[in-house]
Amino acid sequence: DDRIARIVSTIRVIPNFPKPGIIFQDITTMLLDPKAFKDTIDLFVERYSEKGVSVVAGIEARGFIFGPPIALAIGAKFVPLRKPGKLPEDSTMYTGIFVASLESRLRCFMSVLATVFAWSLDILLTTERESTGEVISEEYSLEYGTDIMEMHVGAVEAGERAIIIDDLIATGGTLCAAIKLLEHVEAEVVECACVIELPELKGRERLGGKPLFVLIKSA
Ligand code: 5GP
Repeated sequence: DDRIARIVSTIRVIPNFPKPGIIFQDITTMLLDPKAFKDTIDLFVERYSEKGVSVVAGIEARGFIFGPPIALAIGAKFVPLRKPGKLPEDSTMYTGIFVASLESRLRCFMSVLATVFAWSLDILLTTERESTGEVISEEYSLEYGTDIMEMHVGAVEAGERAIIIDDLIATGGTLCAAIKLLEHVEAEVVECACVIELPELKGRERLGGKPLFVLIKSA
């Protein structure tokens, strides 16, 4: 496919980023070339438009660039897989209990009561937990350090067919965590998709047999 050569030519390679010894593949230069960017999206859309995929899960941050246009084009929902503390959720009310004034203590006490009441009601009525914005987390190791990835539980239903998209797979730790999040809610991960693979790092082998589709393999 001659579109690939053009896409490759738009990716900038930056040595020693984010630390010495790392050769960083920078996709931001591809975004400056509308044809290359469109070709990239089109290649994924061509692959997934007839596969019954209803979820495109994108990994923060660069999966947020490629995921939404693919999701719109294939008629799927976009689900962001985010860094910790970014997804809104109903936090417990206990944290402010030691604040100084009587008034705020009273407010906290009322909040606790309201929370307990809501939880009891939730159990009684078996209300969907989605309404609280419940978040699940997965810790994983990176090429440089460790991180946590989070997803809203209510965003994906059991049995939905999902693809996971990111810009690049290196060691595979990030995609592995994403697969675990989606499988935790019993979604079917059809395939992982990246613009670039660094095959020397053997990330593909960490995906537990899940298929991986990439446009470019880079040394
Ligand atoms: P892995 O978990 O596979 O080791 O690392 C992949 C994650 O790190 C992806 O989310 C990707 O965005 C980021 N990453 C690691 N190295 C590079 C790189 O050279 N270029 C880009 N664009 N992202 C990288």
